[in-house]
Amino acid sequence: MSQRFDVIVVGGGPSGLTAAQRLASRGFKVLVVERGRRPGSKNVYGGRIYAHVLDRLYPEYVKEAPVERWVRKERLTMLTKDSGVTVEFEIKSVEHKSFTAYLTNFTEWLSRKAEAAGALIVTETPVDSLVIRDGRVVGVRSGADEVYGDVVIVAEGINRLVLESSGLTPKLQPSVVGLGVKEVIKLGRSEINERFNLDDDEGLAWALAGYPTHYVPGGAFIYTNKDAITLGIVVYLEHGAKLDAPVHELIEEFRLHPFISRLLKGGQLLEYSAHLTPIAGLGAMPDRLYGNGYLVVGDAAGFLLHLGILIRGVDFAMESGNLAAEAVVKAHDEGKYDEEALSVYWRLLNESFILREFRAFRNAHKVLNNPRLYSDYVMLMNSFMARYFDVDGTPRRIWDTFMSSKGKLTLTDMAKDALSLVMNL
Ligand SMILES: Cc1cc2nc3c(=O)[nH]c(=O)nc-3n(C[C@H](O)[C@H](O)[C@H](O)COP(=O)(O)OP(=O)(O)OC[C@H]3O[C@@H](n4cnc5c(N)ncnc54)[C@H](O)[C@@H]3O)c2cc1C
Repeated sequence: MSQRFDVIVVGGGPSGLTAAQRLASRGFKVLVVERGRRPGSKNVYGGRIYAHVLDRLYPEYVKEAPVERWVRKERLTMLTKDSGVTVEFEIKSVEHKSFTAYLTNFTEWLSRKAEAAGALIVTETPVDSLVIRDGRVVGVRSGADEVYGDVVIVAEGINRLVLESSGLTPKLQPSVVGLGVKEVIKLGRSEINERFNLDDDEGLAWALAGYPTHYVPGGAFIYTNKDAITLGIVVYLEHGAKLDAPVHELIEEFRLHPFISRLLKGGQLLEYSAHLTPIAGLGAMPDRLYGNGYLVVGDAAGFLLHLGILIRGVDFAMESGNLAAEAVVKAHDEGKYDEEALSVYWRLLNESFILREFRAFRNAHKVLNNPRLYSDYVMLMNSFMARYFDVDGTPRRIWDTFMSSKGKLTLTDMAKDALSLVMNL
């Protein structure tokens, strides 16, 4: 390849493809370089997409996108080996707020949008590094091939080897990432509807903490698709050394937990995958998201908001791709793509919901990194419920039951933790 493009996008995930579609539809000559067999084939996520960005950028998605089910039910469970305390929220009308989907299918749909707008997508081509001349990114290198462009948008996801090998970001630290493993279990639609009390197009998003990660910081998730359940766990790498079992055993134990296995009865394991995920909010961001001839978007920029119950990456990925495209258009109007011209991307990020939300939750990771949340409090809640409902003629006053259930937690710890949660999440 010795062609020249206006814009080269490294990575055909939600962020890169959105940037490509927005730019190609404005007449830019765009190349997307993806290492997977097809866009989406390497993408891994839990299972739910928040639709607010789609409403704005691709309003036709309601009819076109590969939506599985509209999420109508949210569930949170503190799970032990033999008990669980669950909070559930159910709403009748979901007004298309969020949906479950296979990220593979969704990304493929985005790739068709980008191609329809005129972008060229080359697959099975890993980018090894950026081509940098006189301090300016001028293209990408794959094996012996170099391709040149005015701007490179780096959308390679959290495993940012291209940025690292080009000296544009330091090595990823374990303290800012989690390891996610996920299974897709095929199950009949009527079984899903019956077992989760849903109608055909209605979905459930379920977060669990405690037993799935052996009480180490992290958590588990379950989402309902039309004819399958996706189930997985995420472990904070920083706490990995405290695990008493490898991650592939944890997910197996979670699937076999008596409360879970009966929901999956008759199911068939279709897929198994694993992926890193940023968990530290602003702490996972490279020092610079723009420079001479390049911009960084999506997970590569650390744009994943992890709030325990809520995990959002795809909406941030698409919006950052959109803003990077807008920045390129503005820089093009100025007739230059140097650091100063591309700094408009940072301004757009600041004005958008992206940095507003990341700043609002700047301490979320610190709070969620507290090991007590995944062990002592899970035990406290389960032990309280077990004692309270164990009627044997002894008066079960709430305060006494609570005090006898709290284990080694002190009231001061609890007051501090509660304050920290409500102030930062
Ligand atoms: C276990 C888990 C659960 C999650 N759950 C959710 C959820 O429920 N909802 C949600 O919104 N988000 C979730 N996320 C986050 C979400 O998956 C990401 O935020 C989102 O996929 C980021 O999109 P992206 O385009 O920036 O990166 P990615 O989706 O990672 O795409 C990057 C692309 O770049 C390609 N690539 C990488 N390196 C190269 C290279 N050198 N050359 C060429 N191509 C390359 C990859 O093959 C890939 O296609 C989850 C993530 C994980 C790991």
